[in-house]
Amino acid sequence: MKILKGSCFCGGIKYEIHGPLEEVLNCHCSDCRKAHGAAFRTRASVNGSDFKFIEGENLLKEYRSKVNEARCFCSRCGSALFTRFDHSEKIGFALGTLDDDPEVAVGMHLFVSDKAPWYDIVDDLPQYDEFSG
Ligand SMILES: [Zn+2]
Ligand SMILES: [Zn+2]
Repeated sequence: MKILKGSCFCGGIKYEIHGPLEEVLNCHCSDCRKAHGAAFRTRASVNGSDFKFIEGENLLKEYRSKVNEARCFCSRCGSALFTRFDHSEKIGFALGTLDDDPEVAVGMHLFVSDKAPWYDIVDDLPQYDEFSG
């Protein structure tokens, strides 16, 4: 298993991922759009214990976006790193701050009914309106 390295925009937070990236998908929900300032967020499920801070954990802040989940980001530069869930060991990891190639491919588009009207999906990946597991 290859160790993946990543960092936030300002470089204050550095991390490594020591496990597999699963359920790699583009999330088109409005929460992701707002949090990332982008048409969608490419994310993967990662075991929380496989995500290790190398530097700058003290810079991490969280915004409780839903009752049971929190969006975690760098308080200096605003890079959105992952979503944490109160009742799960998994985190929803945003691929955008990786420095290494994870050698995985996006498998689907999710929450497509929530998609930004100004963005057209132009690939042939499956599209879903909700998460079916
Ligand atoms: Zn930062
Ligand atoms: Zn989303």
